[in-house]
Amino acid sequence: MSRTGFVTDELCFWHDPGNYALMLPPGGFVEPLNRHIENPEPKRRLLNLLTASGLRDRLVALPSRDAAEHELLRLHSARHLEHVRAVAAAGGGETGIGAPISRNGWDAARRSAGCALAAVDAVMAGRVDRAYALTRPPGHHAEPDRAMGFCIFANAALAAEHAIRVHGLERVAVIDWDVHFRNGTYRCFEQRADVLAISIHQQAGYLQVSGEADEVGTGAGLGYSLNVPLPPGCGDGAYRDAFDRIVLPALEAYRPQLIVVPCGFDAGRFDPLGRMLLDDVSFRWMTRAVMDVADRHASGRLVFTHEGGYCPVSVPFFGLAVIEELARERTEVVCPFTAAHAKLPGNALAGHQRALVGDLAQRFEELRQRHWS
Ligand SMILES: [Zn+2]
Repeated sequence: MSRTGFVTDELCFWHDPGNYALMLPPGGFVEPLNRHIENPEPKRRLLNLLTASGLRDRLVALPSRDAAEHELLRLHSARHLEHVRAVAAAGGGETGIGAPISRNGWDAARRSAGCALAAVDAVMAGRVDRAYALTRPPGHHAEPDRAMGFCIFANAALAAEHAIRVHGLERVAVIDWDVHFRNGTYRCFEQRADVLAISIHQQAGYLQVSGEADEVGTGAGLGYSLNVPLPPGCGDGAYRDAFDRIVLPALEAYRPQLIVVPCGFDAGRFDPLGRMLLDDVSFRWMTRAVMDVADRHASGRLVFTHEGGYCPVSVPFFGLAVIEELARERTEVVCPFTAAHAKLPGNALAGHQRALVGDLAQRFEELRQRHWS
């Protein structure tokens, strides 16, 4: 029997950033498209594929819930909460930097964060070994005091904090492979050693102002935040090298008691907001790799929160691959892109990618020797 939990909520699909073209407000020569790039479709279609494939029936359905205000206040300021609530009450609008909501935005954002907390509770109670939270709005750009990049509350960071404050864990790892730098998670934990926060992302991604490799935490958190900024055009080979030489050694050395994965699919080959080349095969082995670490050190405990991923056709197949791995099940679904992509250039590790990963691996190893207790 599957011990993989799954939590989602219809309200999350009703979250509506409003009338945009990609993330541009229409006006001037930008014609209205009436659809923000962060719209329900990729996630709704993943849910539909889970159902159509039969996989959803083999998961343990977890009840959704709202994050309580005191739970949000563990990482966010009261001012941020009040601001989001006020924007929603006024009918919607911009809540920060590139994070618009409609009238239901406060409710949807609290529900989205609450689902991540529900996933942690189910895993920590032993009801399931692993859990996937399919929700929106996403969370990893939301900072303690401001919404940003489609994200209102820091879902994955709140999940890690919940595991520490409520369930008494002392070491939680957050490994984020969304193609964009998770500035929110970084801000939440940069001064702390009880969370190892790793991000593998595209260097200088869209509207990204930070995420460079020299942002390694401060104070007690020095060396416990690792940024792996990869150049555009990285495929399976570069990600494997980064996992083998940076991500997995760090996770092994840290011995986390729970791993949280803010799981974006925008490093996928078709994504309109990323310039990386991953496929379902890549998302599969990345999932298996963190499962192996979780099995060795964390009694298998693993929580995935859904982040970005904006191609409505490929995200469902990539998401199904991840959830199949988590559930240790295979459906009859065959990703329609795999065979064609395997022949394309860009999958193999290139020399400049190998050199960069080598430099970063050495730098992080030195940091670990010097600062980890
Ligand atoms: Zn993203």
